[in-house]
Amino acid sequence: MPNLITTTVTAAGRTGLDLESPVQFAKGVGPYRAQLLAKLGIHRCADLLDYFPRDYVQFLGQLKIAALQHGQLAAIEGEIVQTRPIRRKPRRFEAQLEDDTGRCTLMWFNRLDVAEKIIPGVRIRAQGKVDFYKNRPQMIQPRFELLDHWVHEVSSAEWQPVYPVTAELSSAMVAKIVRENLPVLLPQIAEWFEEGYLRERQLLSCRQAYYLIHQPGAHEDIARARRSLAYHDFFLNQTAVQIKRYHHQQTHSAPVLRTDATVDARIRRLLDFSLTGAQERVVALLRKQLAQNTPLNMLLQGDVGSGKTVVALYAMLVAVASGAQAALLAPTELLAEQHFTTLQRYLTGSRVKIALLTSSVPGATKNSAIAALADGSLGIVVGTHALLQEQVAFKNIAVLVVDEQHKFGVEQRASIRNRYAGVHTMVMTATPIPRTLAMTIFGDLDRALIDELPPGRRPVTTRAVDISRRSEVYEFVHRQLSQGRQAYVVLPAIDENTQDLQSAKQVFDELRTGPFSDFRVDLVHGRLEARQRRRVMEQFRAGKIDLLVSTTVIEVGVDVPNAAVMVIEHAERFGLAQLHQLRGRVGRSSAKSCCILIAAQTDEVSAARLQALIKYSSGFKIAEEDLKLRGMGEMVGTRQSGRTELRFPDLLLDPTLLPMARRDARELINKDPHLIKPEHATIRRLIAEKYADTLALADTA
Ligand code: ADP
Ligand code: MG
Repeated sequence: MPNLITTTVTAAGRTGLDLESPVQFAKGVGPYRAQLLAKLGIHRCADLLDYFPRDYVQFLGQLKIAALQHGQLAAIEGEIVQTRPIRRKPRRFEAQLEDDTGRCTLMWFNRLDVAEKIIPGVRIRAQGKVDFYKNRPQMIQPRFELLDHWVHEVSSAEWQPVYPVTAELSSAMVAKIVRENLPVLLPQIAEWFEEGYLRERQLLSCRQAYYLIHQPGAHEDIARARRSLAYHDFFLNQTAVQIKRYHHQQTHSAPVLRTDATVDARIRRLLDFSLTGAQERVVALLRKQLAQNTPLNMLLQGDVGSGKTVVALYAMLVAVASGAQAALLAPTELLAEQHFTTLQRYLTGSRVKIALLTSSVPGATKNSAIAALADGSLGIVVGTHALLQEQVAFKNIAVLVVDEQHKFGVEQRASIRNRYAGVHTMVMTATPIPRTLAMTIFGDLDRALIDELPPGRRPVTTRAVDISRRSEVYEFVHRQLSQGRQAYVVLPAIDENTQDLQSAKQVFDELRTGPFSDFRVDLVHGRLEARQRRRVMEQFRAGKIDLLVSTTVIEVGVDVPNAAVMVIEHAERFGLAQLHQLRGRVGRSSAKSCCILIAAQTDEVSAARLQALIKYSSGFKIAEEDLKLRGMGEMVGTRQSGRTELRFPDLLLDPTLLPMARRDARELINKDPHLIKPEHATIRRLIAEKYADTLALADTA
């Protein structure tokens, strides 16, 4: 659980309780409840404050059962005295709730969980609409909350926090503990902004925000409190980012690479198309920044197929034109091979030398590439982490392109950062990351965006189909292949089959011997030997394979324009970003193309994800939906370490909040880069605690 309040302001209250005290000593806790709280990650008193409600319910005025009136919305409280599952239709579960004035019937339909919780003897609070049936009050489908026998007085505030809890500890109990300890704990929270500063930004102080997130007086308070706490998180995050950036710029300088008109023209002659407006913008920015001695530190974002590789090539050729070298680093062998083939094609007819360096390149070839890098005769190298090995040394590297950097491990990223600190670095990603999220993850990078596809592309038609219609899908694919198209079939697993999961191998065998026996079908996956994998991909590209069954190894980089159909089986098992990337493999020509998602019936969230994919073609729009549906960690495929995780990822969708925090952080670091002024002591301490790892690691992202 991330935590902002680590600083105690001098003397704790009279109780001797401070933010660092074990929660056991908080009012209303004790050894037993402390154990239960520990299961929720609450160990210290500060953790208690940081344990935010997951929701709020409006507390309707509480009434006695005898006073209930027809049609009224009300809350009642009492003991369950009788329960009865009713099996004849409509199936339902009935319970009698009794208080000291009477009984009310509660009735739930389609709620399997109710029977487990509502048992005779428990005390609950129920709220809902009152009905009268045969002169007796009843509530249909009421909301309810179990009351522990020890919670006697319940808060009467209008908005009640609902805490995420375990079976042994009710939300009401957590609420009571928080409520009773707030008065002692709140005054100990260190404030780190002045009143005027907060007022200008319409933010609450830390203390106010913590108070209102636990005890909102009105509904608007919840949003105000969340926004204020999120600002504090964002501000710290952005300050850490700015410190890193400042440090990097102070300690490293990079070669100045100028691009004159001749070089520019020579590069453009290698392309048989003209750049899109978006590509032109990025190229102009690149030219400007490469000509400075502060190292370029660019995040190049663009949807699949938007033409990032060409821009990367431009940067690498600028280096080569100045007599320096360039490298492109990819996270997988397949991707490195793809890039190598693509770049080789662009460079046909030029004198620039390019080589591939991965662990499956044969020893002799590898050694001569390494030698050519060392003596400077090799201009461009494309490779995997094999490039990070000790024995690989460049004579004179000036530009490094890193593709899909977040797919590298943390240590590899640190190693990239250390080895290439004084090199102009460009990180490319097709993972659509909303702008504000990119600022927090890749915050110290200058972001450039290619937000336009090359001309002539048509959007991919996307459909979700229930698994029961699978054979119809393959009939359709068969017709497409008969018209000369090629198709992909993607599965989540290589060879493990279970009752409800088919593997790529199994489907490959099925399709090859059955419905597609008249076509050339092949299989590619991550465990194939690199040479064989390359051969299959090459044959598919050359049109010698009609139907390619694969796993997600084709997720990025593969570029076969004639492949216009993609079937994704068990689509519910893939992440949204991954589905979007996979879909990017089709629609790479002006022909009509489609993506069919075969999905088993699943939960609401999976269904909503598939709908988002059908509705939107922009990766950024999809990423926003994903952020709403799942939170940010999973979307990017890398969960940030617990301490740096932002607590309100949904507020990254607020278009103004993070940019404001970023501006403020920049201003602060410009004024006081080492945070040595006394008024910045708190910020400095918090950064040191919360971002120590990040700053020490100093990796590129
Ligand atoms: P990305 O790396 O962003 O996925 P690529 O650079 O691989 O995209 O480009 C996708 C395809 O579009 C490639 O076949 C490339 O040759 C082509 N392409 C790139 N830029 C343009 C352009 N400006 N006009 C036409 N085709 C382009
Ligand atoms: Mg690409």
